[in-house]
Amino acid sequence: MSSEDPSKVDVLIIGAGPSGLMLATWMARLGIKTRIVDKRFDRINSGQADGLQSRTFEIFDSLGFGQDIWREANHMLEIRFWNPDEHRKLYRSDMIVDTVPGLSRFQQATLHQARVEEYLLTYIGKHSDLKVEYGVMPESLDIDTDNVESDGYPVSVTLRNLPSPSPESQASLDLDDSKIPNGLHRSNLTADTTDAMLQDAQATDGTHAAKIRAKYVVGCDGAHSWTRRQIGCVMEGDHSDFIWGVLDIIPITDFPDIRYRCAIHSASGSMMIIPRENKHVRLYIQVTEVDETGKPVDRFNITPSNLLDAANKILSPYKIDYKHCHWWTAYRIGQRVGSKFSAHDRVFLAGDAVHTHSPKAGQGMNISMHDTYNLGWKVASVVKGWANRSLLETYSTERQQIARELIEFDRKFSHLFSGRPAEHMMDKEGVDLKTFKQVFEKGNLFSSGCVVDYASSLIVTKPGPTKTTVGDGGIPLVGKQALAPNIPIGMRIPSHKILNQSDGRPWHLQELLPSNGQWRVIVFAGDLLDHAQSLRLSSLGIELGSPNSFLSRFRPKDNESSLSSFFELLTIHSSPRQKVDLLTLPEIFHPYSSEYGWDYDKVYVDDISYHEGHGQAYQNYGIDQRKGCVVIVRPDQYVSWIGELEDVADMNRLFESIFVSSTKLP
Ligand code: FAD
Repeated sequence: MSSEDPSKVDVLIIGAGPSGLMLATWMARLGIKTRIVDKRFDRINSGQADGLQSRTFEIFDSLGFGQDIWREANHMLEIRFWNPDEHRKLYRSDMIVDTVPGLSRFQQATLHQARVEEYLLTYIGKHSDLKVEYGVMPESLDIDTDNVESDGYPVSVTLRNLPSPSPESQASLDLDDSKIPNGLHRSNLTADTTDAMLQDAQATDGTHAAKIRAKYVVGCDGAHSWTRRQIGCVMEGDHSDFIWGVLDIIPITDFPDIRYRCAIHSASGSMMIIPRENKHVRLYIQVTEVDETGKPVDRFNITPSNLLDAANKILSPYKIDYKHCHWWTAYRIGQRVGSKFSAHDRVFLAGDAVHTHSPKAGQGMNISMHDTYNLGWKVASVVKGWANRSLLETYSTERQQIARELIEFDRKFSHLFSGRPAEHMMDKEGVDLKTFKQVFEKGNLFSSGCVVDYASSLIVTKPGPTKTTVGDGGIPLVGKQALAPNIPIGMRIPSHKILNQSDGRPWHLQELLPSNGQWRVIVFAGDLLDHAQSLRLSSLGIELGSPNSFLSRFRPKDNESSLSSFFELLTIHSSPRQKVDLLTLPEIFHPYSSEYGWDYDKVYVDDISYHEGHGQAYQNYGIDQRKGCVVIVRPDQYVSWIGELEDVADMNRLFESIFVSSTKLP
């Protein structure tokens, strides 16, 4: 992709952290001409984020490497709370499950960011020749506002190659006096160096700048985002006075719960323990925000040994030490969200560039990747000329809502975590530890990423009042939620086990929804042994096969190789598997090709398996076992619409609003 004319690209990604790389996965998978640049000279190899949430694993699984990364990560199953007793002595006060059971096939786990980035880079390399251009940063960005709705390249960006740093200057940035890698120079306790880097580069002989034109630019350039400034986005919110240190160590300790996630409130401050892969443990340690004279603490006084001292005070009478410390940093807690997520739907912001918060709830890397997982398929569909540009508006509306919820959650969570424990019932300034536990429990649901609920839009047809109209005639299209009450429209489809009709193998429904850009039309066909129901399915097959249906009218152009169809039709019936033969179903549900014969991977059944029990999918989804329904799922697995088998006109209306007319067949 990047080997063609490099001065014109469909998509320019600024920043190759988790959000930039997740965006690049979509671009690689769907064959979009892309460049991705980063001002670093190499990838990170230690530090920063480590928490991976359930929804993130589901996304990884849809990209094909979920099981590998799940196996490699450290699984966190229980949270233990430690608090001071009435004599201010630390004791284990409670234990709760970490991830709410039944929410997902995956639970919260930890693996450091560098490994996560490696998985994403491997995926990108497998699907394209896209490579991160390190040591490159933008120095100007202009949007040709007269042409934002055109088919051209309305965004101009000048990219500058940075002079290679001397090994000494690099080492002085990354290593402290004790030669332990640290993230202090990138932390929010340190001033932004972006402009200084640029000025140095401009003043250095031998660096060069080149102007490129892009259809779309995405700023994934972290908390000090340069792109954010170019589009006039301001961060709203505050920094608090709370300072926290981070130590990544292999602990030597007599503290009994070191391999559990622990929330510790002691008389000497607060601490969180995050067990990680390869014997590592991350400690988040509260640092006094003011020194003895009452002045804000100087970041240069924060060192690994000071942090260890603080950890020992908090954990006392237990002791903790280490021989191996792999990384450390310190940061000031703040919750801020960008005033806008895009300019003209041509330049977008994602990840830390547009929301920052404390890292203890393990959200940063996850929500950042979720942003671009949301944006990627939309941008690709528009660049390809498949979808209308109005699809892009849904990025800002959907992700801004989530960012605000995140900031609200984190504000509450961090405040409770950083405050001192209440000493008695009337101590209103102290933190009530019961409230803390309740917020923690509720927070686990939010932080799993599985309860994200997008509002009504072009691609979410929730029941209830809506400002958005879908399809011709301006009549709102409303999905029939009551047909599948436990598949909420606007949320990602929950997963239950079903069996392949053709060989009896059990699959989780989500495993059948790889991230390949296709919309899924899932036909819950009901009881095929019921004659009337079987006729309903046949009629649906005839309607879907007609030249007027969306399946026939919206198709990738002939020379488009990355997708054979925008849609995949999956059928799940509720009759006993052994009483149904695949070939008795209408052909459209298990299509035939002269090259490969019948497609045996499109029809499934909700029945008992030999070795893995019964998924009870119909019952769990709340779908009538006899009558079924149809569920339309977006390429990112969020539920767009639900209706009856007869509602093909509504399905047509939904897709008429999304797909461009040029892809309509005559
Ligand atoms: P980033 O990971 O910040 O990636 C941004 C990328 O853009 C970087 O590679 C950067 O070099 C590049 N870039 C920036 N500006 C430019 C520019 N002008 N031109 C070109 N490239 C540019 N999260 C946790 O959950 N736990 C933690 O303990 C934790 N500690 C952290 C410590 C530090 C020092 C930092 C910086 C972050 C930490 N985080 C932590 C946050 C977590 O790493 C982020 O939430 C996550 O990485 C966000 O991903 P992102 O891709 O949006 O941004």
